[in-house]
Amino acid sequence: MAIYVNKNNGFEQTEPTTRVCPHCGAHAQLLPVANPSFAVLVQTQPKHAGLLFRCAACNEPRFLRAAVRTIGSERVELAPNLVEVERARERFQYGYLPDTVEQLLRETLDCYSLGAHNAFATMCRRTTNTALRALGTATRTRWQDTLHEMLRACEIDAVTTSTLDAVLFGDDGELPAITPDEAAVLVEALKDLFYQSYVRTAKLRAAMKVRRFFAGESAATVTPLDREGWRELA
Ligand SMILES: [Zn+2]
Repeated sequence: MAIYVNKNNGFEQTEPTTRVCPHCGAHAQLLPVANPSFAVLVQTQPKHAGLLFRCAACNEPRFLRAAVRTIGSERVELAPNLVEVERARERFQYGYLPDTVEQLLRETLDCYSLGAHNAFATMCRRTTNTALRALGTATRTRWQDTLHEMLRACEIDAVTTSTLDAVLFGDDGELPAITPDEAAVLVEALKDLFYQSYVRTAKLRAAMKVRRFFAGESAATVTPLDREGWRELA
């Protein structure tokens, strides 16, 4: 595959590019939207050119970068291996967290989105410690058990499991270095632990309060929690 910026500024690909979209999750085609003009490329002779596409599935913009291969008199050829510039931010229902935990978890997930995996691991330890100082030692043990159960259920190998355990619950010593694959497992595990302790707990309490209110309204008939509500909490 090759990419060309022609003299008339047309942006041409010999084959369509398809990528997993960080916005909608679809494996969709990238449709060309904009490129640096031929005149600018000839004049500035850059090493790389930025290209703007849009996702064929969700229409969100996708920013990519390509190395400039040759600058000819009729067209500029770009290298076919497009590098994604923008990564989607990890999402979390931050509104349920105490302020200090919220700030730390945001920065932790931003490190992951930036691909700074060891900075991410270091922030995972710090955020976990801050949360657990308030939640107590019983929660620490429960989180550790939940982590192991979660990783076992997903058939995660023993090395990754012990690395993740050391990152989150290790003593104050040095953290192990983590690979991109381990970071991808860690981010899901971390979000799950924080979701369980803060978001689900808060939603459950709210549901129980509503139930008690209606029970008080008509003391004789206690309405059981509806099944859909429970499914949402699970
Ligand atoms: Zn998309």
